[in-house]
Amino acid sequence: MTSHQLKNPYGAFGKVTTELRPVIRVIEEKCVNCHRCIMACPVKMCNNGSGEAVTFNSKLCIGCGECIYVCGHGARVGIDDFDQFINDLKQGVPIIAVVAPAIAASFGGEYLKFNGYLKKIGIKAVFDASFGAELTVKS
Ligand code: SF4
Ligand code: SF4
Repeated sequence: MTSHQLKNPYGAFGKVTTELRPVIRVIEEKCVNCHRCIMACPVKMCNNGSGEAVTFNSKLCIGCGECIYVCGHGARVGIDDFDQFINDLKQGVPIIAVVAPAIAASFGGEYLKFNGYLKKIGIKAVFDASFGAELTVKS
């Protein structure tokens, strides 16, 4: 994995990776090579349908999850890295959380406490996903 040592005025995060981490995987034994996932994928070139089973390049995948939704054979699944997240937290690995507005629905009247909870369990910084969306709309 390539990483760059970024100059950080806060000095808190050190090494920052600029590569997309894999969030989807293909279970080759279940894939029937129907290419529905490729038709649905907004980043066509991250898929390779030339073999026995579809493969894809995780460095180009934007993690939208559309391929999981359309695959009727259970051959596309999300990578669950929750255990890794917990282990990293325990070991003090700096982690930044990007919180979606959907937490207001998931946590009801308690959602205003959510950022404080994340900081309490060791998350170094919290960003609002809707702020990123706003920047995208304005750019
Ligand atoms: S939709 Fe599923 S079964 Fe069809 S090619 Fe894609 S991964 Fe394979
Ligand atoms: S998660 Fe989205 S971008 Fe990635 S392979 Fe699936 S459909 Fe394509």
